[in-house]
Amino acid sequence: MPTLQPSLEPTITIIPLTRTATVSPTSTQTPTPIPCDPFTADFCITDGHFLLQRPIHPPANDSVERTYPFASTGNGTRDPHRGVEFVNELGTPVYAAGDGVVIFAGPDEVAVYSPWPIFYGNLIVIQHDNELFTLYAHLSKIDVAAGDHVSAGQKIGEVGRSGVAIGSHLHFEVRRGDVEDYFSMVNPELWLLPSKPDFGALAILMRDANSIFQNANITLQQVSASGEILGLNYLETYHQTLALGDENVGINDLPAGRYRITFVHGGFYERWVEVQSGKLTQVVIVVK
Ligand SMILES: [Zn+2]
Repeated sequence: MPTLQPSLEPTITIIPLTRTATVSPTSTQTPTPIPCDPFTADFCITDGHFLLQRPIHPPANDSVERTYPFASTGNGTRDPHRGVEFVNELGTPVYAAGDGVVIFAGPDEVAVYSPWPIFYGNLIVIQHDNELFTLYAHLSKIDVAAGDHVSAGQKIGEVGRSGVAIGSHLHFEVRRGDVEDYFSMVNPELWLLPSKPDFGALAILMRDANSIFQNANITLQQVSASGEILGLNYLETYHQTLALGDENVGINDLPAGRYRITFVHGGFYERWVEVQSGKLTQVVIVVK
C-alpha cells in the first residue's frame, strides 16, 4: 500500500448523479411512487446503481477489506485510497465487473492512471457504458489485451502484488467521466452488487447548512428488534479531496436490518435507518 505523499492540487470533477430519491413502485398496485426526500426523511430506500459484478468470485474472498476502505488515509499516513481491496492469494482469478472494452492492459510504466509510474503494477482498465471505467491493479497475470471486448464475469487476469502493493490483493477502482483523471474515482462499494442477496448498501451525506461536507468518525451498529447489537462498523468520512458530491460515506454488504448511526460533531448525533436487501439506503445528516 502506498506511503507516497503527493503535493498535488487536485482538480475535483463533480459529476451529479441521477440517483433517484424516490421509492420505485414494486407492483402495479402502487400507481404513484411515494416521494422520499433524504433531506427531510430520516432515510430513503432507493434502487441505487449496482451496475457492476464483483471482480472476485467465491470461493475466493469477494468481500471488500474493511481495514483499508475507499478514501481511507490510514489515520493520515497515506494518500486517500482511491479504490477498495480484495485480499486474496497470488493467482486468484480476477473477473471483468461488467461488459466492456479493454482500454489498457499491462504494467503502468507511464504514469497515466496515477501520478506515479509502476504504481498500479500490472493493470487492466475496462471501459463500460454510462461513462464508467473499472481498474484492476497489482495483477500477477493479464489475460486480455487493449481493444478486447470482454463480458461481465469473464476471467481477465490473476491477483498479484505488482506495483506499490503490500501483500497480494486486487486493488479495484471505479472511475466515472475522464478515466485519466486521478480524481474521477467513485466509491466502488456503491456500484458493486451486494455479495449476498440479503445484503444492502448505505450512503451517508454529512454536511452543514451551507452544503459544506463535514467530517466525523461514524459508528454504525446493526440492532435487532430486541435491542441486541448484531454488527458494528466504524466508518471514516471521505477525505476532503474525495468529496464526490453525493455522499461522504458509502458501505456495501450490510445485512438487511435496522441500523443506528452515531457520531460526535459539536454535539452527539443519532439516526436510525433501515437497510433492505439489494437496495441502497440514502441518509442525509445536516449538522450544526
Ligand atoms: Zn488499494
